Amino acid sequence: MPNPTVAIIGRPNVGKSTLFNRLVGKRLALVDDQPGVTRDRREGEATLLGMDFRIIDTAGYEDDDAATLPGRMRAQTEAAVADSDVALFLIDARAGVTPLDEEISRWLRSTDRPVVLMANKAEGRAGESGILEAMALGLGDPIPFSAEHGEGLVDLFEALRPHIDRPDAEEEPEEDPESPDAPLKLAVVGRPNAGKSTLINKLLGQDRLITGPEAGITRDSIAIDWDWTDAEGKPRAVRLIDTAGMRKKARVQEKLEKLSVADALHAVDFAEVVVLLLDATRGMEVQDLKIADRVLQEGRALVIALNKWDVAEDPSKLFNGVKGALDEGLAQVKGVPLLTVSAATGKGLDMLMKVAFETREAWSRRITTGQLNRWFERAIEANPPPAPGGKRIKPRYVTQNKSRPPSFILFGTRVDLLPVSYQRYLVNSLRREFDFGAVPVRLTLRAPK
Ligand code: GDP
Ligand code: GDP
Repeated sequence: MPNPTVAIIGRPNVGKSTLFNRLVGKRLALVDDQPGVTRDRREGEATLLGMDFRIIDTAGYEDDDAATLPGRMRAQTEAAVADSDVALFLIDARAGVTPLDEEISRWLRSTDRPVVLMANKAEGRAGESGILEAMALGLGDPIPFSAEHGEGLVDLFEALRPHIDRPDAEEEPEEDPESPDAPLKLAVVGRPNAGKSTLINKLLGQDRLITGPEAGITRDSIAIDWDWTDAEGKPRAVRLIDTAGMRKKARVQEKLEKLSVADALHAVDFAEVVVLLLDATRGMEVQDLKIADRVLQEGRALVIALNKWDVAEDPSKLFNGVKGALDEGLAQVKGVPLLTVSAATGKGLDMLMKVAFETREAWSRRITTGQLNRWFERAIEANPPPAPGGKRIKPRYVTQNKSRPPSFILFGTRVDLLPVSYQRYLVNSLRREFDFGAVPVRLTLRAPK
């Protein structure tokens, strides 16, 4: 079956060639600041987050940005749309909607082709009014996009997917989730504006290999598979789990929403490691602590990243402040990894991924009974359990009943009476001995009746 075809249409100078180049990945096309540089219709094989399709660029008309569709342009556009399964209609969000844009959309509405409306040049804040104007074109909500910076790729993927995905595409075989080679299931959560979309786009940037034919949307979650290249140059599979940052479309509303705790919880259902992104220009707020606490309560591995470090003021004071607030605020676990990153420049992201993989490794670690016994004897000897009310508590042995997160059962006479402080002593000692870092470690007490 031939690949599905996508046509890029729009008036001159909105960024069609730039988008084409980004999707085709080779510098085939001319890009020029002069509107209406003569170019022919070009076609190429495009890849977007592992999804393959054929793409037609209708760039290139001699006519300038006139108020009506010049004949040649109309003919080109019509032909391209007729040859495609879906049309990507670009407007320039910085310039706003022009009469020519309106004319193209009127014509598009009269065809029966599916249309994906894209508000290009929307990086930064400059495109916001153009995005609002584009909503009035009657072609649905526009995707805020930046062909030049590669922002909005996930939303484009999501919008194209229903038109491109072939139901008979092969299913990936289920991998063993405990295998170290299984994709790292990673979610990025945080308050609106923390920089989640920027981070995800940077991670998925074109210098990284994006893989996985199964990347995409399931009924209620999006997952994107890609490879992170580690320091040895080895590709490591990552599955980015649905978070609000991956849905730029909803962003106008999202900015109005105060609580992202619900988002975090949704992601937590599917993720192994959760990255909580904080905005360094705002520091840590109560809601961040709430999210962090919930992630740990749910038994997920947590990594905290202070974003926008490139513009942080008084960095060392800020870092220590956040560190202190975390250790104080997170009752269960001290020393959650705290990293500084800049999603905008990419600084610190390799370290973030490295720590995310290490954290999953700890979260998945299994300790042999022999190792546990040796630790246990030493721990009990160094700090014998109390005897509440003169009754002796006799812990006998510990087993690890599961990993992800690491969970242990302590057996022994009256161990159910062990005070919380002593339980905490055991958990912290376990944590240190076996390098669990700050992943949640669970201990269940079992006293035979
Ligand atoms: P086309 O005539 O529609 O094919 O437009 P081009 O791809 O040639 O782009 C026209 C101009 O817009 C060029 O100067 C591009 O560098 C610029 N451009 C394209 N995409 C973006 C974007 O996302 N943001 C900004 N700021 N400029 C862009
Ligand atoms: P989200 O709501 O969490 O998805 O946040 P966005 O990714 O939309 O980012 C919010 C704003 O912060 C945007 O204006 C970004 O350009 C900006 N931003 C994101 N990351 C950084 C960064 O590392 N440094 C700086 N200076 N700005 C950033």
